[in-house]
Amino acid sequence: MAAPCTICERIKLIQAHQNPYFVCELTTGYVVLADSQYFEGYTLFLAKHHVTELHHLPAHERLRFLEEMSIVQEACAQAFHADKMNIELLGNGDAHVHWHLFPRHNGDTTNPGPVWWTPLETIYGDDVSQDTPRLERLKRALSIAIKATLNTRKPELEALQALTRPATRETDGN
Ligand SMILES: [Zn+2]
Repeated sequence: MAAPCTICERIKLIQAHQNPYFVCELTTGYVVLADSQYFEGYTLFLAKHHVTELHHLPAHERLRFLEEMSIVQEACAQAFHADKMNIELLGNGDAHVHWHLFPRHNGDTTNPGPVWWTPLETIYGDDVSQDTPRLERLKRALSIAIKATLNTRKPELEALQALTRPATRETDGN
């Protein structure tokens, strides 16, 4: 039997109201803060459905998922006053499609470059679950920014929705 997907497990915790990192639910995914907040505001956007590649999502869902990811990263930039956003879809450890969204600040790594140039023990040494007031403050800042960004981007989201309605089934019963 395949090992359980850790992201599906995290989504189950969200649905049971037991995931302390949960920020909000969008149409195609869930927004959570990452456990590590060494790069403050490090956020994950988890696809609702278990797929291992972006192109495995149906077209209408994929486009919406990409747009919603863009909204989350925009909100992240605002909430955490980023000088630059870094966005990654990796999945080598946990294959379930999820975005890593890093608000970056000038000088936050010794040399300008990807976060992964920082030793993993440093990054993961900053476990925000050990600091509830900080976790709550960060979640609240991101939640407010996502609501504001959804509002700003509403006309675009509606236009996209009209363009990407799921294709009507050609036949019934199969
Ligand atoms: Zn999964």
